[in-house]
Amino acid sequence: PAEQNYRAELVGVFGCPVAENPTVVMQEAAFRAAGLNFRYLTVEVKPEDLEAAIRGMRAFNMRGVNLTIPHKVRVLAYLDEVEDDARLMGAVNTVYRRGDRLIGANTDGKGFLQSLREEAGTDPSGKRVVILGAGGAARAIGVELALAGAERITVVNRSAGRGRELVELLNRNTGVRAELAAWDAPYAVPAGTDVLINATSIGLYPDVAAKPELVYDTIGPGLIVCDAIPNPPDTAFLKEVRARGAKALDGLGMLVNQGAIGFTIWTGCAAPVAAMRRALLEEFKADG
Ligand code: NDP
Repeated sequence: PAEQNYRAELVGVFGCPVAENPTVVMQEAAFRAAGLNFRYLTVEVKPEDLEAAIRGMRAFNMRGVNLTIPHKVRVLAYLDEVEDDARLMGAVNTVYRRGDRLIGANTDGKGFLQSLREEAGTDPSGKRVVILGAGGAARAIGVELALAGAERITVVNRSAGRGRELVELLNRNTGVRAELAAWDAPYAVPAGTDVLINATSIGLYPDVAAKPELVYDTIGPGLIVCDAIPNPPDTAFLKEVRARGAKALDGLGMLVNQGAIGFTIWTGCAAPVAAMRRALLEEFKADG
């Protein structure tokens, strides 16, 4: 052959701990399916080494990286530009390169929105939403729902301070009407709610039998109920709401879609979403 190219395009994830992060499986499956010579590196970067790691990423001419615990917030200081929604959240989970500039984005909430539209067949515009939780996942989901025209968002969080921060962030920066609800007793989902989302870590492995404390009689047909927990995707919470006639949306779609958005940002190609979903499901089965 006239031309050989032994150089792969590099992307990856920086985190600490990072060894159990399965994203490499999903992204490498996508590169194979799309016939792209890309490598996804799972790199342990200690908290104090993030700035050096971002400089290293520039030096290696990497196309981009994902950020996970504990780097999502602090990385903003080392980037040339941050997309508006990610700046509102104050968190970046995806960095990409345009020329010699590094730009920060957040694909978590966008992945959720895509799931809601494609899998649950619902557009957030004009909807009344209840979000359980006010951490990173809840912030990402809340900001994207608000920017997509949700009418009302009720944040239900254990610690009022964190909940209030999210409510104020939404009211100050978006057109949504956001309010805080206390969570000191089982929460009754208000009549007229369109979408209920568990964005807490309740139900996360190994405590897979745990469910958010709700008045479950307030959940029924007509309500769309989503769980952000991706593994195992059919959580105890979703089983319960499905038995009550609600439409259930699992967190695997959110995880796959946020990865698919990252894939497209880095490669410029449409993402082989089915191959990505399959790879993750197989991986989750293998370790479960
Ligand atoms: P954070 O640690 O930032 O936030 C955790 C949230 O859960 C807080 O609001 C916390 O409340 C609440 N919480 C935890 N335990 C309890 C409890 N026992 N009772 C009531 N509330 C509780 O985590 P993240 O936001 O990053 O992650 C949350 C979940 O979302 C995780 O399960 C994660 O796996 C999932 N996730 C899924 C993604 C996907 O693509 N599917 C992407 C990102 C996250 P408080 O403020 O009071 O502490």
